[in-house]
Amino acid sequence: MPPVKRTADDDVYELPVAKKTHPFFTPGVKSPGTFLPSPPTLIHFLHLDPFDRPGSSQVPVVFYDLDGTLIKTRKGGDFPSSRDDWQWWHDTVPSQLKSEWESGKHIIVLSNQGDSREKIRKEWKAKLPLIAAKMPSGVPLRILAALNKFDIYRKPNTGMFDEIVRLYRNQGLEIDMENSVYVGDAAGRAGHQGRKKDHGDSDFKLAINVGIKFLTPEEHFLGKPREHFPNPPNGFRPSKSLSLKLPHVLPTNTPITRTEIEMVLFVGPPASGKTSFFRKHFSSARYEHVNQDLLGTRERCLKVAETFLRTGKSVVIDNTNRNRSTRALWLALSSQLSIPCRVFHFACPLELAIHNNMYRACYAPPGEPSRTLLPLSAFSTYSSAFEKPEKDEGFDEVRTVNLVWEGTDEQRKMWDRYMLEVKR
Ligand SMILES: [Mg+2]
Repeated sequence: MPPVKRTADDDVYELPVAKKTHPFFTPGVKSPGTFLPSPPTLIHFLHLDPFDRPGSSQVPVVFYDLDGTLIKTRKGGDFPSSRDDWQWWHDTVPSQLKSEWESGKHIIVLSNQGDSREKIRKEWKAKLPLIAAKMPSGVPLRILAALNKFDIYRKPNTGMFDEIVRLYRNQGLEIDMENSVYVGDAAGRAGHQGRKKDHGDSDFKLAINVGIKFLTPEEHFLGKPREHFPNPPNGFRPSKSLSLKLPHVLPTNTPITRTEIEMVLFVGPPASGKTSFFRKHFSSARYEHVNQDLLGTRERCLKVAETFLRTGKSVVIDNTNRNRSTRALWLALSSQLSIPCRVFHFACPLELAIHNNMYRACYAPPGEPSRTLLPLSAFSTYSSAFEKPEKDEGFDEVRTVNLVWEGTDEQRKMWDRYMLEVKR
């Protein structure tokens, strides 16, 4: 076998990686901490068990972000070059962690990790026992890290926090929200006196989403006054960004369904509520559902719809139908069969559709069909080719559907979370 060509990076990345307990420093000496079982897109690392210490059933927690909050790179880069390229964010970090623990608080890190390259991930994982090894003696440290760029665990989504709440409840404990705090550097700050601008605002948004006090590392560790950053943070949140006072369906003076055979075309971005609207209004009126996600191709949709119409059944075409040329195919079919065609246009702002995409994939209430998270490109593709449906295309009627919230107060709270970070 030819010798494997080595690069400088190989030395960095081929070191052993801790799985459970691994002899890290000296053979035979246990490395600090353990990787606990967790879902595939989440890492869960624990160094010493905080539940060993008896205390009240209400536990105050200091939640920390990791990079730029507890630690920073030694070499000054934005990203670490190896597992060893880290140092405490400030000399006072270990003593502060010690005093938080001694004052009765638990210490939990919630971190977003973005790099999907296996080598980088392994290297990052291998750093956690090294951090644990530098913790003040006897102070437990729990670290959760979100690996996917786009899922429920990724801050500002609350999956990691929810996981902690669940874990504590299993121990008969509750997080004491009044006396807990979240410390992070992603607050959406502009650069200031040598400090670079924040890469985003996911830490501040997470704190708002779960309803916990927020501090920057400068406030928490150094006692500095709060710097200015946008509050409320930039970006979409339903209660901040939407008026939900529009009538659900416009015009309001004609019925939604008809008794005579017809074709109904839905027009709207993904995640704008089309399928729910079908289930609520058309399903019980015996309209047939034609959907390209289920049928695969438009040709198949056309064929299936034609069969239904020819056997006397009304159909709803539940696709995005974003432009005139797509809709013309359906109008051609309806006119060929001399069947009227109406449009229901889901006038859902794109930001709301993107938000709902995240909501229904991550927070959908039990009983709702589970939906996969669509990539952002599904929304840009829609909007780039969108042409507003007009009656003169050949439709019998064009109706507008506006979003009306339906669900419990608890679900509404979840829906009203910030779900995406805004980069500065
Ligand atoms: Mg950070």
